[in-house]
Amino acid sequence: MHSPRIASNIERYQILDTPPEQVFDELARRAAHLFAAPMAGISFFIPSLVASPSGAPCADEWFKSVIGLPDATLASEQSFFLPVRDPQFAAQRTFAIPDLLADKRFRDHQWVGNPPYITFYAGAAVLAADRTMIGVLSVFDTVARQAEPRELQALINLADLVSARLEARAAARRARAPAVAQMTEAQIEQNTSALLTEEFTRMEQLLEDEIAERQAAERKLREEKAFSDAAIESLPGAFFMFDANARMVRWNASFQRVTGFPDHEIATRRALDFIASHDRANVADAIRRVIERGDEVSVEADMRGRAGGEAPYSFHGRRLEIGGERYCIGVGRDITERLRVAREISHAKERLDLALMGSSLAIWDWDLTTNEVFFNEGWKQLVAANPPDSEGVVFPGDRVVGWNHAEDQDRFRAALVAAAKQATNEFVCEYRVPGLEGDWIWLQSKGKVTERTATGKSARMTGTTANITKQRAAEERAEFLATRDPLTGLPNRALLNDRLVLGIANAARKNTRLAFMFIDLDRFKTINDSLGHDVGDALLKHVAARLSACVRSSDTVARLGGDEFAVILENLPQEGDEAQQVAEKMIASLAAPILINNQPLNTSCSVGIGVYPSDGIDAQTLMKHADVAMYDAKAKGRNNYQFFSHQMNSRAQERLSIENFLRLALRRNELVLHYQPRVSITTGRITGVEALVRWQHPRRGLLAPDKFISVAEDSGLIVPIGEWVIAESFRQLAQWKTTHAAPLTLAVNLSAGQIFNGARLVTAIEAAGHESGIDLHQVEFELTESALLKSSEETAVLLKRLGELGIGLAIDDFGTGYSSLSYLKQLPVDAIKIDSSFVRDIGSDPNDEAIIRAIIAMSHSLKLNVIAEGVERPEQLDALRALGCDEYQGFLFAKPMAAEAFGTMLAAQG
Ligand code: C2E
Ligand code: CA
Ligand code: CA
Repeated sequence: MHSPRIASNIERYQILDTPPEQVFDELARRAAHLFAAPMAGISFFIPSLVASPSGAPCADEWFKSVIGLPDATLASEQSFFLPVRDPQFAAQRTFAIPDLLADKRFRDHQWVGNPPYITFYAGAAVLAADRTMIGVLSVFDTVARQAEPRELQALINLADLVSARLEARAAARRARAPAVAQMTEAQIEQNTSALLTEEFTRMEQLLEDEIAERQAAERKLREEKAFSDAAIESLPGAFFMFDANARMVRWNASFQRVTGFPDHEIATRRALDFIASHDRANVADAIRRVIERGDEVSVEADMRGRAGGEAPYSFHGRRLEIGGERYCIGVGRDITERLRVAREISHAKERLDLALMGSSLAIWDWDLTTNEVFFNEGWKQLVAANPPDSEGVVFPGDRVVGWNHAEDQDRFRAALVAAAKQATNEFVCEYRVPGLEGDWIWLQSKGKVTERTATGKSARMTGTTANITKQRAAEERAEFLATRDPLTGLPNRALLNDRLVLGIANAARKNTRLAFMFIDLDRFKTINDSLGHDVGDALLKHVAARLSACVRSSDTVARLGGDEFAVILENLPQEGDEAQQVAEKMIASLAAPILINNQPLNTSCSVGIGVYPSDGIDAQTLMKHADVAMYDAKAKGRNNYQFFSHQMNSRAQERLSIENFLRLALRRNELVLHYQPRVSITTGRITGVEALVRWQHPRRGLLAPDKFISVAEDSGLIVPIGEWVIAESFRQLAQWKTTHAAPLTLAVNLSAGQIFNGARLVTAIEAAGHESGIDLHQVEFELTESALLKSSEETAVLLKRLGELGIGLAIDDFGTGYSSLSYLKQLPVDAIKIDSSFVRDIGSDPNDEAIIRAIIAMSHSLKLNVIAEGVERPEQLDALRALGCDEYQGFLFAKPMAAEAFGTMLAAQG
């Protein structure tokens, strides 16, 4: 190819520097269209006389037609069509450069770095009739791409059309002005032209077909893309597609919205750019698995938006292969709400667990169809050791029952069956399971059948379990304390009474005999006083053990307090001397010295025995007679046993027994005082208190005065007892005075026996008054009418003396005697106490009311204080108020109580 030939051909076509022509523009547009490129041009080479050093034609390039290109001429060294300037490519008809930026020959070209920013180039040579290259049909694009062989072939066809047009123009020009000199040449040209026209028509047809085909393909592609776009957009989530290098290829509007980046920025990013940094490693790993191994992968990660906000997403991705390239395609879905709900559920569960923990309850769910039990976490905490070899929380039902204490298993099963069958569906059971320390833990399970099958069979039971070990222990302890003697652990008086009543009922039913024994240690008080309480306590424990060793386990050995014990022997045959044998054994066993602190102590005991049914058919009588027998044993010189004997008058013997032991009572400190408040009817406030004596009898419990006062009176013991009551009640009043300022009248009962020796009584009063320091004006003695009737000269002297001491006098049980009301005037009386028998029938017996009215009227006329006794009901109080009574006593306000309780009551009153 040589420049002179280009020059001669170009000149022949007379094309250079001509204005644009539609036919060429149309061909350029077709070329652009062929490549779907924005730019195209048809250029011709301006012949140059200077050859390039390489020998290439080295012609500048003048553009006849430009589509989207600057209207410019390219210097020869700037031509994109290398075959025109580089011999190395001279043989090529076409030439393409996929990426000009990547090609060092062109990346500094003025059209590359500057407008029109060309990145892709393809050109086909335009040939003259003699096949000399005279120009180029060029296509340009701003994006890099490959030129398909098919496209290049079509470009050649178009370049040939350019040639055909040039040829046709030249022929037309010759036809208009034929030159003689050129006839031959004109003829040749005409022939050529005819040939070319034929060829032109054929090629143009080819081109049309190709364009139509291409347009159809493009339409199809557009439709397909519209379809896939619509599909992608309609996906319920953020669609993404990225290549093997994680470069974003496609995405939908939802993806764009979520990330907040504009589309062109997404195009420049990689998939991981949209993931929060803390999740990137994880997601990168998932991407690798998709791209490299072709796994379908789901991964949860926080998606990061442009503004820096993060939201939890669940991604699902899979591999897609297009044209040998690997892509990852998938969808991400916002799981904020799902996580919130899950969190809420877990919080709710946590709260429930906490609540359950606080209440120390465990939850269980028993599937009765599969017989499997589910336990929640609380279970382990509850029983510490259980489930023993737990690796899960679901256990076979049989195993669960198997954990239970052997004695509880049947009960547990029975409760289950009952709940399953019953209409109530309720299951409640208290049972034991093993604890960590080889101990047993008490549990209480409460449940309910929560599901039944269509046929009504129970299918499921749900409930809670609580650890009730402590509660049980407390109950057992409370029961133990209430029924046991704390020192020896033996049954106490209350339990002894229960067992005796029960034992008698049993004996009656089985027609057997029962022996009841009182055992009293001889000289225990001496040991206790001389060697101390600790030694005394130790001795009692040894005695308890020795006595227990003498009986069968079914028998009862009880301690009643002090050195008093009792024994019940049950199931004795009708004939035989078992009771005697046991008594002898006990006496023998106590005869051996007891070693305490390396000191041998000798003790002995006296035993009184009553046998059911011969000596009594109720507990009360049997005990009383055993006490009488005990008196007999003591009287017979101790260290022996005695059976109750009917030969003795039992009543006389009982009194003897009482007297015998009452003598000891004072020394042993067995008497106590209870106090009953005296209340003003008008103010409702406590005005005084009556001291009432009781005997804490070693064997028979707390005895009321009617059980021993008459014996005391008959035996004269009432004098020392009365002296004790005076001293003790004075002392108590002095103590209350220190804590309670309100004035309080102390009422003390006197028996007739006490006023016979008036001098002794006055001495005792003065001593007690001196000792306690109380004001004797606060004291009031109560004497019955009968006691006063027995009075003599001396009595009058005594009463006068008491008056001088400031002590008041009240007539007790007023109305029961025969004293005339006028008799009162002769006595230095301060108050009268209306007997409870009048109060009882007040309101129903008009007679009583009349009597009370008369008593009150007369008493008030004598300026005596009137006190009603035994007020139990509110209407009695109302009647008394209406009658003008001053004060009252009775269960309505309070029963007699221990000193401490009365102190509390005073404090409460303020
Ligand atoms: P009392 O002096 O007539 O004492 C009142 C008795 O009635 C008390 O019985 C008391 O518990 C009871 N009582 C109080 N309010 C009511 C009530 O609303 N309803 C009923 N049903 N009873 C009520 P207690 O304590 O058994 O005393 C009985 C008697 O023993 C006394 O009768 C008194 O005569 C005598 N006594 C009590 N303590 C002594 C004392 O220290 N020395 C002397 N010598 N005799 C005493
Ligand atoms: Ca009284
Ligand atoms: Ca009375």
